[in-house]
Amino acid sequence: MPATVKPIARVWVDSGVFHLDSPYDYIVPARISDHVDVGVRVQVPFNGREVEAIVLERLDESAVTGTIHQISKLLSIHPVATATSLHLIEEVAKHWASTPMDILRSAVPARVASVDKSFTCSTYVSTKLPISAGARSFISFDPGHQAEEDLKKIVLEKVSKGSVLVIAPDVRDIDVICKLFEIDQIAYIRLDSSLPRIVRYENYLKAMNTQNCIVVGARSAVFTPISDLASIIVHKESSHEHFEIRTPGWNVRDVVDIRREREGVETIYMGYVPSLELSLLIENRTLTYVNHPHRLNVKAFSSIDGALLPGKIFSEIRKGLLQGPVLFLTPRKGYGNALLCAHCKNLAMCRCGAKLIVSSKGAAPICSLCHTTYPEWCCSWCQRDRQYLAGRGIERAGEEISRAFPGVALILSYGEVIKSSVENTPSLVLATPGAAPTVRGGYAAVVVLEALKFFAHPDLRAQERARELLFETAAMVNTSGSVCLSIDESHPIVASLIRWSPGAMVRRELAERMEIPLPPYVSSAVLAGPTKEFSVIVDGLRKSLDEKRLPGEIKIYGPIDIGKGQSKVVIYCPMQDRAVLAQFLHELQRRRSIAKKEYLTIRFDPYSL
Ligand SMILES: [Zn+2]
Ligand SMILES: [Zn+2]
Repeated sequence: MPATVKPIARVWVDSGVFHLDSPYDYIVPARISDHVDVGVRVQVPFNGREVEAIVLERLDESAVTGTIHQISKLLSIHPVATATSLHLIEEVAKHWASTPMDILRSAVPARVASVDKSFTCSTYVSTKLPISAGARSFISFDPGHQAEEDLKKIVLEKVSKGSVLVIAPDVRDIDVICKLFEIDQIAYIRLDSSLPRIVRYENYLKAMNTQNCIVVGARSAVFTPISDLASIIVHKESSHEHFEIRTPGWNVRDVVDIRREREGVETIYMGYVPSLELSLLIENRTLTYVNHPHRLNVKAFSSIDGALLPGKIFSEIRKGLLQGPVLFLTPRKGYGNALLCAHCKNLAMCRCGAKLIVSSKGAAPICSLCHTTYPEWCCSWCQRDRQYLAGRGIERAGEEISRAFPGVALILSYGEVIKSSVENTPSLVLATPGAAPTVRGGYAAVVVLEALKFFAHPDLRAQERARELLFETAAMVNTSGSVCLSIDESHPIVASLIRWSPGAMVRRELAERMEIPLPPYVSSAVLAGPTKEFSVIVDGLRKSLDEKRLPGEIKIYGPIDIGKGQSKVVIYCPMQDRAVLAQFLHELQRRRSIAKKEYLTIRFDPYSL
């Protein structure tokens, strides 16, 4: 028997098929009618199978002619989405040329039957959508203490106005934040994939139904509908962890901005240095930049002849060691990451074509790819056997530094052996990026070894990442300590750190990018697919450009073979044409889906190209 009131439910079906992503209508049986509400999960018959679906709305009648099937089963009485959050999911799907179900899968945790039974307080209050968008700002962390202390302060300030959602890059960051709340006995709800399934689902339902709460989660939590949500805080905004790995690769910054516009939520991005995307908004004065004045004691030492510790840096380190621990940031893990012939400087290679490395002192050279060892290594060019180790890794740097400061404890933090904190006693602490231990009261000195290396990566975000890393590392020094960089003093990072303001450096990079133009002045998309069909696909794209079915300003680079039978093209497109391109690629994918062809990988504005 169909329900007497609004007997039709419109749903999204989890069909797993790209071109079947539009809503479908089903009859609501009277026996479950009371529970079939927006955001509730049901089971429906679809193409001869039983699949999961989510209710979008209830209707008086359907526009569909022909047979309408009946919902088979109510899967849970608890709504896991609201009209607003479903709209957000639809918008994100459109923006990234994907399907709503693909987004929903990361937005909503999996069901757990025992939680469905025990959870009682479904009290979601749907607030009216505001007329205007929320404010947005970037607040930069201060040096001299843990970044999360600044974050906590902001959270406590904002929670008086309504719920606060904090999105942090990874489990380690979430742990730190949660611990700070626990110290002060502040209640919070945690939402990330490190939780057991049962806890995650329960917390998700709690977050939906609690007023004035603090929710701390990783990127997927950005979709959580929270009834009185007032602010979203994005911790370490420029982190690559804020980009979803699975297709379609949406990112937290852009999803948050959609919520800010639609739901009027205040948005606060936090970090040391804003990403280029946010920097552009700051330049255009559509985002407020908050940075407290500080002056750091920063010294640059240029290294001649590749010495790890440029001569004059020694006295600074010695001075630091009288006070407490000294932190050394080093670019690479390992020992000797490249091997050269000491005589002719020929790079030592394996027969497989990969380079040889040396994994510890006195060890035989070994291939970095196939692990063949070369105990009797000699130069393939001049046949001499004297080795010259290049690409100094943290273990070798540790040896050299320890030799320079004998009798001082040496602590290494990298790879599998990351230390979260060290004692505030004189010691040499070496760490690779992201692995620096904290110390109560700050380091007596911070030394950045081979600092130029951090800027030398070949991807578009290298400068952005290096700035954030160097500011973050410099922030670990105590208020009277010094920051020493092994770099030429004319490098703009030196002045930026002294003034604790990256503005000039960021503006310079923005100016260069506007010239070309590169992101963030254009939108980017990466399209990948099977090599054997790719030239046809690319020809189709180019033809669409010629025939003006795609805006003429769009530029296509490639195809490039990326191995495993796949190729890709990189597409740059003016901001105002992004929606047209997204729709075009969505249509391309839809047609391939109908023709039962292999799906393409479509990534809009990825972290890296
Ligand atoms: Zn090899
Ligand atoms: Zn040689």
